Amino acid sequence: MNDVPCPAPTVRVLLDAVRGRIEPAEAEILLAHALRKPRGWLYAHASDALDTADASRFETLLSRRQAGEPVAYLCGRRGFWTLDLAVTPDTLVPRPETELLVELALAQLPEDRELELADLGTGSGAIALALASERPRARVAATDASAAALDVARGNARDAGLANVGFHPGDWFGAVPGRRFALVVSNPPYIAQGDPHLSQGDLRHEPAMALASGADGLDAIRVIVRDAPAHLHPGGWLLLEHGLDQGDAVRALLRAAGFGEVATHRDLEQRDRVSLGRIPP
Ligand code: GLN
Repeated sequence: MNDVPCPAPTVRVLLDAVRGRIEPAEAEILLAHALRKPRGWLYAHASDALDTADASRFETLLSRRQAGEPVAYLCGRRGFWTLDLAVTPDTLVPRPETELLVELALAQLPEDRELELADLGTGSGAIALALASERPRARVAATDASAAALDVARGNARDAGLANVGFHPGDWFGAVPGRRFALVVSNPPYIAQGDPHLSQGDLRHEPAMALASGADGLDAIRVIVRDAPAHLHPGGWLLLEHGLDQGDAVRALLRAAGFGEVATHRDLEQRDRVSLGRIPP
């Protein structure tokens, strides 16, 4: 019975066979990762047969993905802005919608000045490194309460050759006592503690401390807004990512703390995503 070996599957046959199990685009990313090739290689080699070790490495990744592990953790990488970042389960997976926060921050940052900025709760370093790469004369303070996350961010800065980022352990502004900045950005945890999404899909595998923040999801944002005026120069900006239903609440917090020019911006899917305000000049 077993003496007729199965022909080794080709790239195309294998990708077709797993269609019902995970998203086709994710299957390609994982297969390329298992083969240690760039994704484009698959198209030129669709008729190549795979060896058993590669096929079984792919099968392992596929089962882990089906069990909910984010593709970024399985590959250990995620693209953000112009950067290719290392990510681990100690860091939130950078999301495309967070690029809005980078765009809005850059709009307030002249290219020719030696400004000091902060990214609070930097995780993999995505926002801090994107800003540091676009504003080489700026000095960016990246903070995180997780030492493991800061290690990942530090490694990403090194790999990207960015020397204008400093790393500071601690909670929010507690990581940078006594310092004032021209601009502060943060993508803090903002999901409500009891939100059922936390126990579904990819979120189950991401660090809880990077996702959830109190009964209404606003605990971290309240602390950051409260402490920001003491850490911003006159005319300085605070920009915060938040949940799609938190725009009203975040604008109210900003106004109550003395911020002007308060506004909320929508992401590419037309959801409220970033609110900002300015300390009067
Ligand atoms: N945007 C993420 C999500 O809803 C949450 C990220 C965060 O809490 N900062 O999946």
